[in-house]
Amino acid sequence: MPYLEESYDIVVVGAGHAGCEAALACARLGLETIVFTVSIDSIALMPCNPNIGGSSKGHLVRELDALGGEMGKNIDKTFIQSKMLNESKGPAVHSLRAQADKQDYSREMRRTLENTGHLTIRQAEVSEILVEEGRIEGVKTFSGAVYHAKAVVLATGTYLRARCIYGDVSNPTGPNGLQAANHLTDSLVANGIEMFRFKTGTPARVDKRSIDFSKIAEQPGDEKIVPFSFSTDPQSVQKEQVSCWLTYTNAETHRIIRENIDRSPLFSGAIEGTGPRYCPSIEDKVVKFPDKERHQVFIEPEGLYTNEMYLSGMSSSLPEDVQYQMYRTVPGLEQVKIVRNAYAIEYDCINSLQLNPSLEFKKIKGLFSGGQFNGSSGYEEAAVQGFMAGVNAAMQVLGRDAFVLDRSQAYIGVLIDDLVTKENHEPYRMMTSRAEYRLLLRQDNADLRLREIGYEIGLVDEKDYHYVKEKEQLIEKEIQRVERTQVGANPKVQQFLETHGSTLLKTGTTLAELIRRPELDYFMLTEIDENRPVISEEVAEQVNISIKYEGYLRRQKQQVSQFKKMESKKLDQDFDYSKVGSLRKEAVQKLNQHKPASIGQASRISGVSPADISVLLVYLERIRREQ
Ligand SMILES: Cc1cc2nc3c(=O)[nH]c(=O)nc-3n(C[C@H](O)[C@H](O)[C@H](O)COP(=O)(O)OP(=O)(O)OC[C@H]3O[C@@H](n4cnc5c(N)ncnc54)[C@H](O)[C@@H]3O)c2cc1C
Repeated sequence: MPYLEESYDIVVVGAGHAGCEAALACARLGLETIVFTVSIDSIALMPCNPNIGGSSKGHLVRELDALGGEMGKNIDKTFIQSKMLNESKGPAVHSLRAQADKQDYSREMRRTLENTGHLTIRQAEVSEILVEEGRIEGVKTFSGAVYHAKAVVLATGTYLRARCIYGDVSNPTGPNGLQAANHLTDSLVANGIEMFRFKTGTPARVDKRSIDFSKIAEQPGDEKIVPFSFSTDPQSVQKEQVSCWLTYTNAETHRIIRENIDRSPLFSGAIEGTGPRYCPSIEDKVVKFPDKERHQVFIEPEGLYTNEMYLSGMSSSLPEDVQYQMYRTVPGLEQVKIVRNAYAIEYDCINSLQLNPSLEFKKIKGLFSGGQFNGSSGYEEAAVQGFMAGVNAAMQVLGRDAFVLDRSQAYIGVLIDDLVTKENHEPYRMMTSRAEYRLLLRQDNADLRLREIGYEIGLVDEKDYHYVKEKEQLIEKEIQRVERTQVGANPKVQQFLETHGSTLLKTGTTLAELIRRPELDYFMLTEIDENRPVISEEVAEQVNISIKYEGYLRRQKQQVSQFKKMESKKLDQDFDYSKVGSLRKEAVQKLNQHKPASIGQASRISGVSPADISVLLVYLERIRREQ
């Protein structure tokens, strides 16, 4: 008989970026929720890069915010620098990135969790999942207490059997020396869950006072700051910012690394976990790109409360003495003092093919998971999965339909579909190139795509919902106005066109036609658009993009309707594909292993060819006719 037994609707294991979103979503939907962490002082800890967002990750944060998640609001309250990346390129790759004050970020998220109704926070290590006849029943802590639940969300991040390594130093701890969680893996394996061993790494933190700033290039934030959250008043985030700095490695840095590569646990085999290809350590980069003369190093402040600076681009697990040698070859770091060594961390996570698109385990009903535990890497990737896993755990307890976003609706849909459909043998990191429909899935229109869905779930309030509905109407009204507003070939217009190097008009045209010219845009036409109504910048931005990229957007929408046709062809997830006689052996094996939810998902499984899909479609059509 356990000495302590409690019951909740939902148990969330982990208060990292995934666990926080899962716990808040469940509690805000009115369910009694308890969230566990091995250290309550590490809620929403940022153990690596001190920033939120960046290419494609900014899209994830904005989509999460539109749906009712917390990360966007939290960074708007705690950022110390903000930049819109890729502004010189098309809107599909514009992406917001903000430097965070790490301690403030964690403190602010803790304050939100501690002041959310229906939510209990508990510092304890969960050591077992309790399963009865294929359904989750609750969890047990290492101290022996039992917490019953109707659904459980696992978001254990980089803590399961974690080991931190640099040189021949190896510590069985979590990040930043926090306690590792060494007992849950055995229970997961005992319940038939397949585990992977992954690895990631972080650079050293150095003392700001030991940096020679005269030798490195300042990277200031944007003058005009754009908030992450659609609920944040843009005026409220205009503030003084700190700078980041840019320097480079050089031939001497690379020589030191090459001469000591045999002492790297990465190359000596001391690290067994698989690392992220798209977030390589500096030794990885030097070995893989021998002809590259230099690698960028961004020096980023960890916060306003400290002199610690983060050396982005130089994560490593080389021995301490080599770290000193290599960092001190970098311009500006000649006298550098290391505050925390660079290190690699390896940890247990799952093979995410065991999950349904709702992030529920196929084999254990009521058990969901999100974040690094699912084999991804990054705060943003973790947060959106935590949110989706939390919402789906809540939907199940509330007897509502599962909530799944497909690849044409959101980067979140791309991320989760890739995790549950494609074999990931290394930490998965989001990139814009992964999203086929990225011109439709821009960070600037995440609210127009997802706010209504967040409202229907119950995590977006009336005010935000009506705000976006009104915005939609204003955009549509303004597009119609510029489409029908005639512009004559009068001297003022001709002068304007000449000034902007645009072809003069022979006859009248419309404002929209002028906007479609590559050298002009909606904002520039203010000069000749006398009846322009007063509209917000965000509405103006949508009008400009909708008209300027009209052709591309239309083509992408056509591709999406093709895609949706394939997604709508649902498949029985208990079907035995060996019954389809003409299917290739490998396809039968892969389809029976994955049990895809639709023809669309089946077509994305590696090893299943378009020919196999045709065979399947013919077979399904024949079955349908025989019925
Ligand atoms: C050293 C290091 C380097 C990194 N480098 C990068 C990088 O370069 N690029 C990148 O994109 N990402 C990097 N990351 C990853 C990034 O930190 C994670 O992606 C992100 O923190 C994952 O969020 P999460 O919520 O899934 O897990 P985490 O933030 O790790 O949180 C896990 C939570 O689970 C709790 N927990 C775990 N097990 C138990 C248990 N059994 N019982 C109770 N509580 C438990 C922990 O206390 C914690 O609250 C790095 C992480 C580390 C540690």
